[in-house]
Amino acid sequence: MSEIEREAMEYDVVIVGAGPAGLSAAIRLKQLDADLNVVVLEKGSEVGAHILSGAVLDPSGLDALIPDWKSKGAPLNTPVKDDNFYMLGEAGEIRIPNFPMPPLMNNHGNYIVSMGNVCRWMAEQAEELGVEIFPGMACSELVYGDAGEVKGVVAGVFGLEEDGSYGPNTEPGMELHGKYVFLSEGVRGSLSKEVIAKYNLQDGKDPQKFGLGMKEIWEIDPAKHKEGSVTHTMGWPLGSNAGGGSFIYHLENNQVYVGFVVHLNYKNPHLFPYMEFQHFKHHPMVAELLEGGKRIAYGARAISEGGYQSMPKMVAPGVALLGCSVGMVNVPRIKGNHNAMLSGKAAAEAAFEAIKANRSGDELSAYEEDVRGGEIGKDLKKVRNVKPIWSKWGLTASLMLGGLDMWTNTLGFSLLGTVKHGKNDADATEEASKHKPIDYPRPDGKLSFDRLTNVSFSMTNHEESQPCHLRLADENVPVAVNLPKFAEPAQRYCPAGVYEIVEEEGQDPRFVVNFQNCVHCKTCDIKDPSQNITWVTPQGGDGPNYPNM
Ligand SMILES: Cc1cc2nc3c(=O)[nH]c(=O)nc-3n(C[C@H](O)[C@H](O)[C@H](O)COP(=O)(O)OP(=O)(O)OC[C@H]3O[C@@H](n4cnc5c(N)ncnc54)[C@H](O)[C@@H]3O)c2cc1C
Repeated sequence: MSEIEREAMEYDVVIVGAGPAGLSAAIRLKQLDADLNVVVLEKGSEVGAHILSGAVLDPSGLDALIPDWKSKGAPLNTPVKDDNFYMLGEAGEIRIPNFPMPPLMNNHGNYIVSMGNVCRWMAEQAEELGVEIFPGMACSELVYGDAGEVKGVVAGVFGLEEDGSYGPNTEPGMELHGKYVFLSEGVRGSLSKEVIAKYNLQDGKDPQKFGLGMKEIWEIDPAKHKEGSVTHTMGWPLGSNAGGGSFIYHLENNQVYVGFVVHLNYKNPHLFPYMEFQHFKHHPMVAELLEGGKRIAYGARAISEGGYQSMPKMVAPGVALLGCSVGMVNVPRIKGNHNAMLSGKAAAEAAFEAIKANRSGDELSAYEEDVRGGEIGKDLKKVRNVKPIWSKWGLTASLMLGGLDMWTNTLGFSLLGTVKHGKNDADATEEASKHKPIDYPRPDGKLSFDRLTNVSFSMTNHEESQPCHLRLADENVPVAVNLPKFAEPAQRYCPAGVYEIVEEEGQDPRFVVNFQNCVHCKTCDIKDPSQNITWVTPQGGDGPNYPNM
């Protein structure tokens, strides 16, 4: 229990996070019983402000939740018209034909969307059904009941002093109690992390794996724009330094989503994911598309990549983990939104049945059974070996062997069984002395940009007087351990330039944390080789303000 006296409000279900998972759960609960009291709490200044996906949306989740979404005006306006895969080399590219790809890789029937706008629309649907949605309300603590169950959250703490203590202007927030609490915080949720550790939910599963996704919105020359076109690339510039690749999606209004994902299990601590992304845009095929255009937004977010074998147990007393708080991305398809929606629906159905039977505060095991045995499990099981094959044997093996395995899985079997993931991404980092520094070209300010300029295009804002929300377990580790051993990779893996080593003449190096720049991607919480950084939520309303990411 929290020591601070707070007002408490009682609900049937308390939902943390207004992403596709949380909003789907809220909608489904009210569809099943209009009298249920359901609240959704969102740390972004508005619904959608912190949502970042590619995004090509497989509408199967929405079909299951709101079958008449079209007539209700859902913003799915751009059907995918063509699908291209390229292997890039420095000066050219090879098109990989579509026919050898298993059917699951086909984007026919999918839509290029702004998931921020889809979430805004879903929030309207939820509110029409009577769901209470509070944006600008970060959930900073869990509230436990006497039997050790999760019984609620603390939300809306504002105005803490810089050292984290309560001062004259501190608003202590409120406790929101529920018969069940749903954590739909997305990848590496801060409360979800606490629940996974407290109830040992990862035991017996592979470690969760992650990528870092960075994305820009470009407005390009209308003559080059091909509404509905989807392109994925692999290869250059990452080569064998890391797994990953790019996406280029042409949406409406001459806009293009240009994104780049770097798998976070890379070994070389000199790797600079942000600069890999910037460099990628200078490939002749990409440069030709973007030249004459302008970048109008930037953002970054981690993406879960562990898939089927990394999903933790997703229920504990009083609490269920939804969507990417569990990690439900189908990696070769780079799609998780459909599963996030299906998980929200499944959790809602399990909670509805439980509440109808006068239960509360126990484990919603029906939800977990539905996820593992239903559509989500089927979707993820087929592709479970692609990422570990890539990590163990490289890109070519992942294309050949991973492709074959996806085919056999489509037919109902695998010759490989389930390939295990290796170490967690932090432990995958090797010492700097084993690797060569990588020389990145300077951004030209036309196609490529320095980090801080790009961060200004995420409209990120944090109240400066609050405590730093990037907590170091030991303040000495960055300079005493990470700098000599790993050339302090935080300087490079952070896509927002939060971390700096400042070296001034005659003084010892200092580790500086510019938390105001943080875009809430959570990469530091994942990749720090000493696992010394914990991302906790800053006060509500802070962070990026994405337009139509
Ligand atoms: C670069 C990139 C490209 C991608 N491309 C695609 C794609 O093309 N298609 C696709 O289907 N999927 C794609 N994905 C995956 C997809 O984004 C995720 O699967 C999806 O976002 C998961 O939904 P979610 O609801 O679980 O979490 P999220 O969408 O992350 O939503 C979580 C919400 O919870 C809020 N929140 C978190 N913690 C708290 C807290 N403590 N208090 C209050 N609020 C909180 C966040 O602000 C956020 O609004 C991509 C991901 C990335 C990073």
